[in-house]
Amino acid sequence: MERVNPATGEHIETVDAHTDAEVDELLGAAHERYLSWREVPMHERCELMANAADVLRENQEEYAQLMTEEMGKPITGARSEVEKCAWVCEHYAEHAQAYLQDETLPSPPEAEAKVVHEPLGVVMAVMPWNYPFWQVFRFAAPNLVAGNVGVLKHASNVPGCAKAIAEVFREAGFPQACFQTLLVSGSKANEVIEDERVRAVTLTGSEPAGRAVAETAGRELKKTVLELGGADPFIVLDDADVEAAVTRGVTARLLNSGQSCIAAKRFVVHDAVYDEFIERFVAEMEAQTVGDPTDEATDVGPQAREDLMAELHDQVERSVRDGATVECGGEPLDREGYFYPPTVLTDVPPDAAAACEETFGPVAAVFRVDSEQDAIDLANDSTLGLGASVWTEDLERGERIAREIEAGCTFVNELTKSDPRVPFGGIKDSGYGRELAQHGIKEFLNEKTVWVQ
Ligand code: NAP
Repeated sequence: MERVNPATGEHIETVDAHTDAEVDELLGAAHERYLSWREVPMHERCELMANAADVLRENQEEYAQLMTEEMGKPITGARSEVEKCAWVCEHYAEHAQAYLQDETLPSPPEAEAKVVHEPLGVVMAVMPWNYPFWQVFRFAAPNLVAGNVGVLKHASNVPGCAKAIAEVFREAGFPQACFQTLLVSGSKANEVIEDERVRAVTLTGSEPAGRAVAETAGRELKKTVLELGGADPFIVLDDADVEAAVTRGVTARLLNSGQSCIAAKRFVVHDAVYDEFIERFVAEMEAQTVGDPTDEATDVGPQAREDLMAELHDQVERSVRDGATVECGGEPLDREGYFYPPTVLTDVPPDAAAACEETFGPVAAVFRVDSEQDAIDLANDSTLGLGASVWTEDLERGERIAREIEAGCTFVNELTKSDPRVPFGGIKDSGYGRELAQHGIKEFLNEKTVWVQ
C-alpha cells in the first residue's frame, strides 16, 4: 500500500499488506476476544469508550496531521474530525445502555415477552479514505459498546490512519483484539467476508464496492449495512433566504474539498431567485482559498488521489461536451499536487455526467426550475438517495417537501450532515441500513425474543 502526499505528489512510504497467515491469526484473535468481550458488563465497555474519547482529544493534532498528510484534508477540518470522533465515542458511552434496554412487549396474558439485544460477533468494516477517522469511529463506537468486536479493512491509501485508529483503542484500555486493522486489498476483503468467524459487514464507499461486498455477504448469508455515494440535491425555493442558502450551499459543496458523500452536488434553484443565487454563488465559489492543506487559511485542499482528480475532470469535460456551461473553474490547477478548483456548471442537460453521476470533488451543477413541483421532481430524478437540503422561509412548506424527497435524510434550512444523535444512511443506490443514534447501534445485534411462561 502506497502512502502518497496528495498536496505534493510525494511518495511517503510503502506499507506491506498482511499475509494470508497473518489475516488468519488476526481473525482468530478477534473471534476469541469476542467470546469474552460479550460477557463484559456494558457499563465497563462504555467506560473504555469514554477513555477512547480522551485519547482522541489528547492526540488531536497528531491524528489531524496524519490525515492531512495522507489524504490532503485541510488541517482545520482534520482537527474537527478528530473532535467529532471523540463526540461519537462519548455519545455511545453515555447513551448505549438506554438504547439497548430490554424492550417489554404487550405480552399475551399467559406469558411475559421481551426483546433483548445481543451482539453478533466479529463485524468487518470496509471503509473509505475521505473521512478516514470519522467513518471508522461511526461504526466502531456503537459496535464495541454493544459487545461486538471489529476488524477494519481501510482504504489502501490511508494505512497510517488505519494503524493509528487501532492504537486509539489500545491506548484507551480495550482488551487486545477488540479492534484490529487488516491491511488487505479490496479483492482480499471478499475472502475475509467469507470467513466463518466474520458475522456481518459494513461498507462505506462507492456503489461498485458496495455491490461486490453485498454479493459476497449475500452468498454467505451475512448481514450488511451499505453507506454508498450520493448526488444530493440542494433546493432553493422562491421564498428562500438567498444569502444564507448561498453561504451554506458553498460550504455544503466544498465539504472536505468536495469529497463528501453528503456534499450538495445538484443545486435546484427556483426561477424567482435564480439570477441572484447564481451571481452570489459563483462569486463565493471563486473566492475560496485553494492550496496547502496544512495552512489554516485553506478552504479547499488537494483531491486525495491523482486518478480521482482525473475522473472528476473527465466528468466535467463530458458534461461540457453535452452542453453544460462552465461558470468558474473547470481545469486542474497548474501546480504540483492534485488540485481542482471550485467549479460551477450551468445549462447541464439531464443526462450529462454532472446531472446523473456522483461528482466526488468541488464541482457544482446548478439547475433552474419554474415551480416547487419541478424542484421536487428534479431532486428525485436520481438513482441515488442519500441526503437533501431544502431552503424556504416557510417551515411547514419545508417539512412537507422534506417528506416528498427520496432520500435517507432531508434538512430544511441547513446543509446535510451526520450527527451522532440522528440516524444516517441512504435509500436507492445510496445503500441501506442506518448508522448513528439508536437505529445504528441495533444494526448488528441479535434482536432476540425471550418468551417466559
Ligand atoms: P471505494 O473505492 O469504494 O473504497 C471504499 C472501500 O472499499 C475501500 O476500503 C476499498 O479498498 C474497498 N473496496 C473497493 N472495491 C472493493 C471491492 N470490489 N470489494 C471489496 N472492497 C472494495 O470508495 P472511496 O473512493 O474510498 O470513497 C468514495 C466513495 O465513498 C464515494 O462514492 C462516496 O460517496 C462514498 N462514501 C459514502 C459515505 C456514506 O456514508 N454514505 C461516506 C463516505 C464516502 P481499496 O482502497 O483497497 O480499493
